[in-house]
Amino acid sequence: MTETYARTASAWRNWAGTVTARPARTESPASVDELADVVRRAHADGLRVKPVGSGHSFTAAAATDGVLIHPDLLTGIRDIDREAMTVTVEAGTPLKRLNTALAREGLSLTNMGDIMEQTIAGATSTGTHGTGRESASISAQIRALELVTADGTVMVCSAEENPEVFAAARVGIGALGVITAVTLAVEPIFLLTAREEPMGFDRVTSDFDQLVAENEHFEFYWFPHTGNCNTKRNNRSAGPAAPPGRVSSWIDDELLSNGVFQVACSLGRAVPATIPSIARLSSRALSARAYTDIPYKVFTSPRRVRFVEMEYAVPRDQAVTVLRELKAMVERSPLKISFPVEVRTAPADDMALSTASGRDSAYIAVHLYKGTPHRSYFTAVERIMTAHAGRPHWGKIHTRDAAYLSEVYPRFGEFTALRDRLDPDRLFGNDYLRRVLGD
Ligand SMILES: Cc1cc2nc3c(=O)[nH]c(=O)nc-3n(C[C@H](O)[C@H](O)[C@H](O)COP(=O)(O)OP(=O)(O)OC[C@H]3O[C@@H](n4cnc5c(N)ncnc54)[C@H](O)[C@@H]3O)c2cc1C
Repeated sequence: MTETYARTASAWRNWAGTVTARPARTESPASVDELADVVRRAHADGLRVKPVGSGHSFTAAAATDGVLIHPDLLTGIRDIDREAMTVTVEAGTPLKRLNTALAREGLSLTNMGDIMEQTIAGATSTGTHGTGRESASISAQIRALELVTADGTVMVCSAEENPEVFAAARVGIGALGVITAVTLAVEPIFLLTAREEPMGFDRVTSDFDQLVAENEHFEFYWFPHTGNCNTKRNNRSAGPAAPPGRVSSWIDDELLSNGVFQVACSLGRAVPATIPSIARLSSRALSARAYTDIPYKVFTSPRRVRFVEMEYAVPRDQAVTVLRELKAMVERSPLKISFPVEVRTAPADDMALSTASGRDSAYIAVHLYKGTPHRSYFTAVERIMTAHAGRPHWGKIHTRDAAYLSEVYPRFGEFTALRDRLDPDRLFGNDYLRRVLGD
């Protein structure tokens, strides 16, 4: 038996501080063989197994009372194939390490979310996405996966090999096995020009289809209690690179988005009545700016202000109706919302439990500053989303269960049948999976 670095049991917490778990033991395997051994030993000891990423899910998707597998020794690039234009990375590789390593090689992912703290396996397991007209989530950029299944077998899946596993495991919510390596499509690094511009809610919503159609990556934030939005359009550019100046980027990304925002959120939490005035002031303080840089520097930025989040994918053609209902709900209610609502899009994809599975989607995300009671706001938002057959992000707060989810995912049964085949004893089960997938 190989020697594996096992830690004594200690509490595990997610980034938002909303989930705490006390695993029976924590293991950090340093190779696929060691990991398979950890899985077999847990099975023999009657313990369940859960791999974690960097704990950036707001849900208890990664929580376990059994064996927690930490990915810190399973990181790094295994291979770059310049003919196939793919990169194979160890499952625990943080996205920031992947992005910087690819950039050094003159390569890049096509699309990504708005931070890069997550691990590649953790991010893709919940369907982490950015915004895109043609380009979809990170999972959609996967070309092959290697995973250790419940019996300790190492299985490779791709469109050609075990295609039924590939169709499900790219957004597998940790239910099908422990991913050990991910092969992703890459392309020669390119430049994106970001154009940020304040715009009124009425104009963004009436021009939404056009804004999405005219831009490779369109997103916007609406500031509750105001009619103000900030829009962001990212499009490929021939260059030259023109990154935001150091001072202006520090002011926009660090001081306003993190420092001042943190103070405003703390004030709003202590005195909620101040929130609408703060929202009006801060949304008016925004100014237009444009810059050109390599993809990960345009797509992602640091998020130091801790928050809780709910995000639903709704059919793209219902996005504006949903947003108007959401705005009307906030205006009717006594709620005071300090965080902007974020709106992004994705094209339909072919993964069974991807939130964009089989339908063009718009993502609508609501946030609240950590420590602010979120139940009334999130319940009211969820009521609107579910009335439009919304699909919750697997890593963000929601209250849906298998009965609801099987209605909004036409391929739900395909996923659960595969789970029955690969993990009949629910070695990779936890309370969250029992709720969303059933027993
Ligand atoms: C500040 C912040 C910003 C965010 N921005 C975005 C965004 O722009 N877009 C978006 O879509 N989401 C976003 N999210 C959500 C986040 O991307 C997802 O929740 C993601 O799953 C977190 O990745 P992680 O590495 O932290 O994984 P964890 O949260 O630790 O785990 C997530 C799931 O993956 C499973 N898992 C982890 N490793 C493996 C493995 N090796 N094999 C099998 N299963 C595994 C876990 O068991 C769990 O089920 C954001 C979250 C935060 C806190």
